[in-house]
Order: sequence, then structure tokens, then C-alpha cells
Amino acid sequence: MRRFVAGNWKMNHGPVEAAHFIEALPPLTDLRCVTVIVFPPAISLPAARAALGSSSSISLGVQGVHGEASGAFTGEIAAGMAAEAGATYALVGHSERRTLFHETDEETGGKVAAAQLAGLTPVLCVGERINERKEGRLEEVIVRQLDAVLGSEVVGDRIRAGVAFLLAYEPVWAIGTGKEATPSDASQAHAILRRRVGHWLGSDRARELPILYGGSVTPANARGLLAAEGVDGVLVGGASLDPGSFARIVELARELC
Ligand code: PEP
Repeated sequence: MRRFVAGNWKMNHGPVEAAHFIEALPPLTDLRCVTVIVFPPAISLPAARAALGSSSSISLGVQGVHGEASGAFTGEIAAGMAAEAGATYALVGHSERRTLFHETDEETGGKVAAAQLAGLTPVLCVGERINERKEGRLEEVIVRQLDAVLGSEVVGDRIRAGVAFLLAYEPVWAIGTGKEATPSDASQAHAILRRRVGHWLGSDRARELPILYGGSVTPANARGLLAAEGVDGVLVGGASLDPGSFARIVELARELC
């Protein structure tokens, strides 16, 4: 079974550090069943691309894109520009974007469509806050976030036609807190998401859609999470900043192949 290990560097590792990270990464061997993706800051994409050279063992992604292809949007990055700079994936709907930058469910739908149009594989992040979880609203929240994207005919049609799409379940209370979800918490949420993907895209597509877990993943807890029912990979924040710990998580995924 294919597994995914993705590293979200957030606002860390500028161009110089990004190149150093790649040079310091222990060799990632025998990755036939593991897809490794790194999401550097957009400004570091060309340096990361150059440091990777002809190596195809790691794909690059952009942490965010605008919903439009160009225009008067100072400070923003279009999906096509990220693709030109070396990205093949795009994170959309990360909880920090939703919370700190007030991105709405509707905007995430537009960004997924823009990423697809530029040939990037969107990685849609969904997840509940701690109060929502305590109020028993896990399903309501993550289904709402998913529906805002898959409910779009254009996005759904593209995925049905074979355009790649990944989901990441990232409970907000687990991000950057050191409090990871248990493997069974992750399986429960992934099952809800997979059922709902089936509603929009059909059960075959739902069965094969990769759903990653993200939230305080480290080399110490990655094995249990990667082995959990319905978990196809991990999206790693803090622990992806160090080449050794990121490579260790990749190795754990490889061992489960
Ligand atoms: C993230 O930002 O996507 C994330 C999962 O962060 P961390 O691993 O640091 O919780």
C-alpha cells in the first residue's frame, strides 16, 4: 500500500536553509511505495528544486495559492507561478490559513480549483477545533469543510476524471501542541471523511483516495499513526524541519510497505 510523508515547513527555512536541509537529508532509499513531499516557503521552492537536482525521490509543494490565476493581489502567489517554481502539490485549507488569515470554506474551494487548473495536486486540510470536538461536532465540521470543496461541480468532475487529489485530517488541537490524536481518533475521522468522499465521488474513488493525518507527528508516534486503519500517510510540521527526524518518519513509512 502506498504511503505519503509530507513535511510542512510553514514560515521556516529560507532559500539557503532549504538547500542545506536537502543536502543534509540522509539518503531516502527504496521509496517505491512511499511518496515524499516537502512544502517549503514559496520563496525557497527554486532553491529546493535546484538542491534536489535530478533526484525525483522528493516532490515539492507550495503552502498556499490564490484562487485567481493573476491580477492585483499584492503579496499573493498564483498556482501557476508555484508550478513554474518547482511545485507539484499545493496545501489548501491549512488551519493556520483558516484561523490566522481568515480563509473561508468558500475560498478553499476556489483555491483547490485554481491548483488543479495549474496542474498541481491539491492537499486539502480539514480538522476540528478542541471546542468543536468537545461539543461532539467533529463530523459536522470536517464534512462541512470537505463539502465546500467536493460540492463544486468543476472540482468534483476533475477528480472523477482522474485528476489527483489528497486529503489531510488535521485536528486543530493537535497542530503544534505536542498532543497528537490517537491512532483510533485518526481512523474514526478518516472513516467519516472517506464515507463523505464516497457520497460525492463514488465508493471506488473514496476507497483509493489518500487521506493523511497531521498534528504533532514525530518519529516517536509516526509508526502507530501510519499503521492505523484508513491512514495513508502523515503531514508533519515541526518534526519535518530537521532532516534526521523527517528521514526517520519516511523510513517508518517505508517499513510498513
Ligand atoms: C501542520 O502544520 O500541518 C502540522 C501538522 O504541524 P505539527 O506537526 O507541528 O503539529
